[in-house]
Amino acid sequence: MSRFDALLALQDLDTSIEQLEHRLAGLPERAQIAEGERLAESLAANRAEVQGRRDDIQRVQKRLEDEVAMIEAKVVAENDKLYGGGVTSPKDAQALTDEIASLKRHQEHLEDQVIEQMEAAEPVDAELASSDGSIAEVAARLDALRAALGEQEGEINAELATVQTERESALGGVDEELVAKYQRMRPRHDAATVVVFDGKVGCPLHSSSMELDRCKKADSDSLLECPECGRLIVIP
Ligand SMILES: [Zn+2]
Repeated sequence: MSRFDALLALQDLDTSIEQLEHRLAGLPERAQIAEGERLAESLAANRAEVQGRRDDIQRVQKRLEDEVAMIEAKVVAENDKLYGGGVTSPKDAQALTDEIASLKRHQEHLEDQVIEQMEAAEPVDAELASSDGSIAEVAARLDALRAALGEQEGEINAELATVQTERESALGGVDEELVAKYQRMRPRHDAATVVVFDGKVGCPLHSSSMELDRCKKADSDSLLECPECGRLIVIP
């Protein structure tokens, strides 16, 4: 049991926290979700373009059908006139008959065009159905990815909370000045800010024979600083 056990524990806990934060930031689902969202966006844009073409066909078909309805009404009116008893001259009757025949020819022509529009709509409807299928597929995949991400984030955050609590209690066992020194050095030396002298190596980077000698001669249960880099060396 060294006076510096709590400091070493603090260092280990900080390392754990960094690793957990690194895992949290690097969860692969995050990139996969971003990619899925881009795909969903492009699928939606593509669907809107197809829907635009479908709407155009629908508009043309509606115009043709309205025209057909108008002609049908006109034919009914002309028939009423022809057979209503108002037309007496054979010449007028012939003119009306011709007019009705001409209207009906025009109507048939329009009806053919309506059928053409219906036929043109078929592949576009198939495109829409396929587009909807892809959109639903991507949405389901995104849902699954978001759920998986949430689950992993939850697990890591729970671990982080536990380690943070442990860190708080380790912090209570270390002298404030020492904590400050450790924290100043930490960004430079990471998980090896505090090292324990093992009888052979003090600072892993600056272990000259003179430095080794200094470590060997130091009181046990004391703390040295590497004169080169400031790393803290616990003499057990
Ligand atoms: Zn050093």
